[in-house]
Amino acid sequence: MDFLRPRSWAEALAAKAERPEALPVQGGTDVMVEINFAVRRPEALLDLNRVAELAAWSAEEDGRLRVGAGVPYARLIDELGDRLPGLAQAARTVGSPQIRNRGTVGGNLGAASPAGDGHPPLLAADAVVEVESAARGVRMIPVTEFYLGVKRSALEPDELIRAFWAHPATGPQYFSKVGTRNAMVIAVCSFALVLRPGERRVGTGVGSAAPTPRRAAAAEEFLAAELDWDGPLDEAVLVRFGELVAGAAAPIDDVRGTAAYRRHALAVLARRTLTWAWNDLRAAGPERRTG
Ligand SMILES: Cc1cc2nc3c(=O)[nH]c(=O)nc-3n(C[C@H](O)[C@H](O)[C@H](O)COP(=O)(O)OP(=O)(O)OC[C@H]3O[C@@H](n4cnc5c(N)ncnc54)[C@H](O)[C@@H]3O)c2cc1C
Repeated sequence: MDFLRPRSWAEALAAKAERPEALPVQGGTDVMVEINFAVRRPEALLDLNRVAELAAWSAEEDGRLRVGAGVPYARLIDELGDRLPGLAQAARTVGSPQIRNRGTVGGNLGAASPAGDGHPPLLAADAVVEVESAARGVRMIPVTEFYLGVKRSALEPDELIRAFWAHPATGPQYFSKVGTRNAMVIAVCSFALVLRPGERRVGTGVGSAAPTPRRAAAAEEFLAAELDWDGPLDEAVLVRFGELVAGAAAPIDDVRGTAAYRRHALAVLARRTLTWAWNDLRAAGPERRTG
């Protein structure tokens, strides 16, 4: 097995162009498990750990954050937890401290597992994935178009993930997942919610309950229209929101849970996260509700 070690983003893109079969490795928390269990035997590994560009994040002129694919969960929590609270909550649930020190959102995107915890908050926050190839340059892929199937993404063989882009939170964001225990567990199902009170908009992301992570579009539209943003949280709205989130899922029965349980649990997660978010909104007062 060849081990390629580019020292810059340009070198990494050149290496991927020359060896499209080379398997990128960032934190290695998915890749090394697959190699150890002989799920994969790549001819070459493309180690991205020396590419400094991937380990940086920046606030861009249009107000969005551009977060390098190689920023580990632990840094995301510490450095961006205030601006991307939903994603940071999801990051806190990933694996163990060791996994969070190595694992990255870029690797979560690269693996494109329907159970990856990074996906629902990225969907709810309208994130965009920046990918690049030496031959065709940069593509900006809305995260809604990134997931194509179970562990399949829109990434082409000669492309690498450079970063994801997302607006800093302008209102409450929550992530919640159900597992068979509290830590070191693959989600039975998960849900992310973003409220944008200034725009009267709602974002959602459903994980581990369909072949790909997905939004609950009907639930978003319903909530944006029916929520009394300045009044109390109507019980009927809360219940209907849960039903619509559950209805957006296409789960299967497997060792972690039944399809029926996943639908039930998603409705609970949706109601729970909306209640938390609503309480935050009320506590923040009228200024926060409009801005
Ligand atoms: C014990 C344990 C617990 C775990 N718990 C969780 C959990 O709770 N939640 C969860 O979501 N995941 C969990 N995982 C899975 C894993 O940690 C995550 O998916 C993590 O985000 C992977 O990041 P990484 O940087 O380690 O990726 P890597 O293993 O380096 O790569 C993962 C995939 O992405 C590709 N890739 C990496 N970087 C790039 C790039 N820049 N461009 C293109 N492709 C790229 C790789 O080729 C590979 O296909 C766990 C894993 C272990 C071993």
